[in-house]
Amino acid sequence: MKITGVKAVYPRYRHVVPSWRTHLWQIVVRVDTDAGVFGWGFGGAGKAAVEVVNGHLRELLLGREVGSIEDIARLWDELYRASAPYGRRGVGIMALSGVDLALWDLLGKAENKRVCELLGGVQRQSVRAYASGMDIAWYRDLGFGAHKASLKRQGRADDSEQAVAWARRARQLLGPEALLMTDGYMSWDADFTLEMAQVLEPYRIHWFEDVLLPDEVEGQAALRAAIKPVLLAGGEHEFTHYGFAEVARAGALDIWQPDLTWCGGMTAARRIVELAARHAVPVVPHRGGEVWGLHLIAAGACEDLAELVLGGREDERDRVWLGEPKPVEGYLELPEGAGFGVRVNEEIL
Ligand SMILES: [Mg+2]
Repeated sequence: MKITGVKAVYPRYRHVVPSWRTHLWQIVVRVDTDAGVFGWGFGGAGKAAVEVVNGHLRELLLGREVGSIEDIARLWDELYRASAPYGRRGVGIMALSGVDLALWDLLGKAENKRVCELLGGVQRQSVRAYASGMDIAWYRDLGFGAHKASLKRQGRADDSEQAVAWARRARQLLGPEALLMTDGYMSWDADFTLEMAQVLEPYRIHWFEDVLLPDEVEGQAALRAAIKPVLLAGGEHEFTHYGFAEVARAGALDIWQPDLTWCGGMTAARRIVELAARHAVPVVPHRGGEVWGLHLIAAGACEDLAELVLGGREDERDRVWLGEPKPVEGYLELPEGAGFGVRVNEEIL
């Protein structure tokens, strides 16, 4: 198959996650071929990434052959090299992620295989999910046994009390066996992380996520030992196997959390999980409950744990993808269709 079309679109969102700058939210990428088969991908970095795909990556892809995952890896390396002067991390790689995932989707459709089959086969048809957000009662009603709270440090005197109040309530509602995690979204510092380890100790928190800036690998490596048995997690703001190699060298994290739609797509994620395996570090993809990460988890390359960013019971949501699995008693079933098994909601494009 030859690539005949590449197009990125920034959807007409009405309900983006409020903590995100709306123009930096997810983009949809479509890649067409002369065989009539096309693929959908999901990337990050909003309108800036749309410009990268349509204004640069597209011209490098038109007319190129794609018939195997090796072809996709070759194209990935070429696009990485071509975009390196402005890419390597951030917007450029978030754009490349959308293109790469579209190529995986179209290859799956061309071979009538699910992406997890392209990855070597289904190891788990059903994946344990955890609910991210603050509506604990809703997560309990849905049957979740795992939950992560957003505990961004506000710099107020009662930050610590707020964290304890969340943990107490989460334990009460979800029970003694539930997995509880926190996400600091880069707003904690070393002292606050140590304080959290102390005050949350009775609540047995599984991991603290994203406590420092991703660049502070040495600082995170030092915290790992100090907060045991709590694990230090992160990586949603890290990019490609080159970026994770730095994380590995420093021994910065107990758990790696690449985001498939940001880190360079499936091609980069495969290289990241290979690197993680060499360093015996478990991988729990960021937003792994969305199909892009779910296929990698189902293929057995990661921990049996997938994040679903659920927010609150009453929140209104945009539906970009149709056919996405819904959690049942805290588990997600991999969709049946070829490729990633979802189709775009044309109304939002
Ligand atoms: Mg996070």
